Amino acid sequence: MTTLDIQRDVALAPLTTLELGGRAKHFVRAEDESVLVDALRWAADQGVSSAILGRGSNLIVPDEGYDGLIVHMRIADIEFRNGGTVDAGAGVPWETVVDGAVSREWAGLECLSGIPGSTGATPIQNVGAYGQEVAEVIDSVRVLRRDTLTFEELAPRDCAFGYRDSLFKREPDRFIVSAVRFALRPNGLGTLRYSELQKSVGADATLADIRRTVLDLRRRKSMVLDPDDPNSRSAGSFFLNPVVTAAEADRVVEQAVIDNLVATRDDVPRYPASDGKVKLAAGWLIEKAGIEKGTRRGAIGVSTNHALALVHYGGGTTVDLLAFADEIRARVRDRFGIRLEREPRLLR
Ligand code: NAP
Repeated sequence: MTTLDIQRDVALAPLTTLELGGRAKHFVRAEDESVLVDALRWAADQGVSSAILGRGSNLIVPDEGYDGLIVHMRIADIEFRNGGTVDAGAGVPWETVVDGAVSREWAGLECLSGIPGSTGATPIQNVGAYGQEVAEVIDSVRVLRRDTLTFEELAPRDCAFGYRDSLFKREPDRFIVSAVRFALRPNGLGTLRYSELQKSVGADATLADIRRTVLDLRRRKSMVLDPDDPNSRSAGSFFLNPVVTAAEADRVVEQAVIDNLVATRDDVPRYPASDGKVKLAAGWLIEKAGIEKGTRRGAIGVSTNHALALVHYGGGTTVDLLAFADEIRARVRDRFGIRLEREPRLLR
């Protein structure tokens, strides 16, 4: 058994992009799989709960902190193999994977540039942007089973990937992701599915062009972490884009027309989703429900650059953040009858 360096009473706010919330009663850094296993065994022996912290970009820490063991995932091995295979530990910064792939001209991740998380977090909510999702290029996910403390390799079909969804998200207490294997396309074509991206690069854009453009687009919306940009002190998109039935989408369109929120029905953004459903744009719903960009409630506000990001401007609390999120959710429900779901995970 490795000697575990368990620390006590560690501040979690600086380890999250929102910079909110309290302290962890116990805390350990896991730099390899054996420490990960030992840490979970220690928590079980002590009878305390445990939770994984990645790079803290999609996590809300309660003001009272966490009364168990926080395992800071730091497994950082990464290998780019011939033929487009990448093996990356769960603690590898996601940008390292994307940058390494694009610089080798391996296609499949270029649209996922600028996402501030860890690699292990990407299969959990099937991270996606600009028409690409990690599930399209995941070859396998190496997980630790929490019940047996043994490792398994899961194939994509076992991961039940969906829109920003997976088995790991639906059953959070079952597995811990320790590594991900990606199968990319050496010299493959980049993905240009979204018009916002198509308009900004030519049809013959290289992967590097696409990556640069995505970074620019995201930066303009404060969706790239930047200490000089106060709008980037957020957890990215705070709500998921709702996927609804065609009838529900029609109802939203009717409401928007009746309330004079749009000139024509086509002005309501909506996109085909799987099973005949329709994806609505959460940011649009929020703004049309009367919460404009830049709206503030004390230390918390809607980003001035993106209606979907809730920003902590300093000196706030998680209670304030969640209260404002509830207010936004209620406004959208009252106006459109649509329930917004929170995207970042609340640590409990
Ligand atoms: P946007 O351009 O304001 O568009 C609003 C939403 O419409 C997007 O979220 C996107 O859904 C959807 N959309 C736009 N064009 C589409 C198309 N051609 N087909 C299907 N759906 C389309 O979006 P944005 O907020 O600036 O984000 C741009 C991209 O970056 C999106 O893909 C978004 O998911 C991603 N992003 C993610 C995060 C995060 O924290 N998870 C943060 C920033 C940006 P989808 O979200 O389903 O793509």
